[in-house]
Amino acid sequence: MTQIIDGKSISAQIKDELKTKVAAMKAGGKQVTLAVIQVGNDPASSVYVGNKKKACEYIGIKSLAYELPEETSEKELLSLIDELNKKADVNGILVQLPLPEHIDEDKVISAISPKKDVDGFHPQSVGALCIGQPGFVSCTPAGIIQLLKRSGIEIAGKECVIIGRSNIVGKPMAILMLRENATVTVTHSRTKDLKEVAKRADILIVAIGKPKMITKEYVKEGAVVIDVGIHRDENNKLCGDVDYEDVAAVCSWVTPVPGGVGPMTIAMLMNNCVESAELEAK
Ligand code: NDP
Repeated sequence: MTQIIDGKSISAQIKDELKTKVAAMKAGGKQVTLAVIQVGNDPASSVYVGNKKKACEYIGIKSLAYELPEETSEKELLSLIDELNKKADVNGILVQLPLPEHIDEDKVISAISPKKDVDGFHPQSVGALCIGQPGFVSCTPAGIIQLLKRSGIEIAGKECVIIGRSNIVGKPMAILMLRENATVTVTHSRTKDLKEVAKRADILIVAIGKPKMITKEYVKEGAVVIDVGIHRDENNKLCGDVDYEDVAAVCSWVTPVPGGVGPMTIAMLMNNCVESAELEAK
């Protein structure tokens, strides 16, 4: 029978663990603080920023909101980041992406101090991940590892196929699964015979950004399927990159959308903030 990997309850568990830690830190005189910068008012970004603030509030992390107008220059944004890098009482800096077109995202990501890079996007964080050194890990892939581990799914020795090779999901996911001793294959839009390759997977991780593209033809009987995608279907209902109804008939475990990977991304962002404050206190 197919079992559901419950991201909602696993993320709630992680947030409760963090809440206890943050309360203990507060009792010792340490306040964990996250600075959240949003440029412009893209409605989807506003929802994400709102959810991050709510999670901060629940856990007891202080969030500093910087809501900047669309026409903010790159120079102004870089100077705010520089100011926040220098503030001893700010543990994490998050710049909500995407940024308006006149701002170079790579430049902005690189300007954040790696010590406060709670999104794990800074080149130094990515490099550290690749060579197994300490650093912040991109939140979505880190959340997927937690989903697997806390559901009691073994990773070591398993065939893992990742569909998608983006910098924020596919690539860091591959490194993390390698670190957990899986045998990893990364696929993309130029992969030949994707169905055949995907069918090798004991653990199939899908991050392609194409609604319901992955049907049971891509899935080996008994595989674990993780769906990173978030979309609205023709009835305006949330759905993933995986055709859930179709795939659930053949796999052993599956993440739903909503309630799978999504809530884990925010939980791991909170985790990174707390870790940053803990490291600073050492
Ligand atoms: P990107 O668009 O950056 O990357 C998509 C990847 O999929 C690319 O590597 C692309 O290949 C590959 N791809 C596209 N079409 C095909 C195809 N037909 N066959 C094989 N591979 C294909 O997406 P992201 O990684 O940023 O996001 C993926 C999905 O996850 C999106 O729906 C996004 O909204 C969602 N998401 C959800 C998060 C969450 O918290 N739940 C967080 C981040 C993303 P190529 O490189 O060759 O172009």
